[in-house]
Amino acid sequence: MTIAVRTLDDGAWISVNDSRQVSVSDVWTLSHGVFCECEPAYVLLEGFFGVDVSGSIVVADTVGRCLECGTQDSIDRLPVGRIVDGEFKPYGPEGVQSIVEPNPQPE
Ligand SMILES: [Zn+2]
Repeated sequence: MTIAVRTLDDGAWISVNDSRQVSVSDVWTLSHGVFCECEPAYVLLEGFFGVDVSGSIVVADTVGRCLECGTQDSIDRLPVGRIVDGEFKPYGPEGVQSIVEPNPQPE
């Protein structure tokens, strides 16, 4: 089954299978060190510039700003949801997120 993901409206939305699913302007809670030194970090997303499917996980490249310390930076591969039985299940901004790490290189 093919999952079609893309950004819409200049990065304001992530579309999954032609349905708008994830918007910017939500505050996401990120664990320490993922984005800045806050524990946890409350990061307001300001735009998506890429989206991809990694296995069953939908990951977004985004830009955000920490509400505590003001750090503004890009976030690579933020998990925003996953595909279950062909349907998108958003993680939502409530949970503490960490970044999907690339597979570790074998020693
Ligand atoms: Zn911070």
